[in-house]
Amino acid sequence: MPVVRCPDCSALIDVPKETMSGDVVECPNCAGHALRIREDADGWSATLAYRVSCPECDEVMTLPDDVKPGDTVRCCGRTYHLTFDYGAYAAEDA
Ligand SMILES: [Zn+2]
Ligand SMILES: [Zn+2]
Repeated sequence: MPVVRCPDCSALIDVPKETMSGDVVECPNCAGHALRIREDADGWSATLAYRVSCPECDEVMTLPDDVKPGDTVRCCGRTYHLTFDYGAYAAEDA
């Protein structure tokens, strides 16, 4: 079974057989982010996929690869600004 190394805690994580390049998998050690994994010529690799929860409904959203502080996400018919503190994103009322 292929494995990827978590870029945050360095744990080795099994890549499930049905995984497609671009899928998101959980790191068992890390809260607050998941891993977006990719298959390329050298095999599988993983990058952090940050997550935020909606301040209203606690829905957890996985943020896109190119997310940056100040970007916005929408949930509950509202727009939230993303802030980045202590290694994690948070969604705040605009
Ligand atoms: Zn990890
Ligand atoms: Zn919501």
